[in-house]
Amino acid sequence: MDELIERIRKHVVEEGDCWNWTCALQSCGSVPTMNYKRKVGAVRRFILLERGVDLGKRLASYTCGNPLCVNPEHVAPASRRAVQVRSAKEIAYQTSPLRRKKLSDNARKRAKLTPELARQVREADGTQDSIAARFGISKATVSAIKQGKIWKDYTNQFAGLVQ
Ligand SMILES: [Zn+2]
Repeated sequence: MDELIERIRKHVVEEGDCWNWTCALQSCGSVPTMNYKRKVGAVRRFILLERGVDLGKRLASYTCGNPLCVNPEHVAPASRRAVQVRSAKEIAYQTSPLRRKKLSDNARKRAKLTPELARQVREADGTQDSIAARFGISKATVSAIKQGKIWKDYTNQFAGLVQ
């Protein structure tokens, strides 16, 4: 067991109580995987087997809600059914209205440019870097506004002609 723990510890980054696995993950999903005693398998499974746990049909799972965690203290067997329910919940959240709302809120936060702000950017002096920092937008956006590629000024017929 100690040998296994020692090897695992070399490949983790601690985050709170959790040991986040930094090596291989099984291709389908995010199951920490390693080569131990000439077998490739799930890290958490190795831990439970070393501990003498008879998994039977159960899976080696985690109790801390962190799929990357391999802290032996957070590893426990779980039924296939329980794991399925949990991943169904995770998938449901990915596609839920709640998450969509969160994403669109974020998009709205990003899209904080208004015609007025664009006008200020157009008239701002200084390097594009400093303007970008001042308005909290990207340098590419500043450049595009300055060149009249986006947020064109239609309020003045001469806009864009004189620079
Ligand atoms: Zn954990």
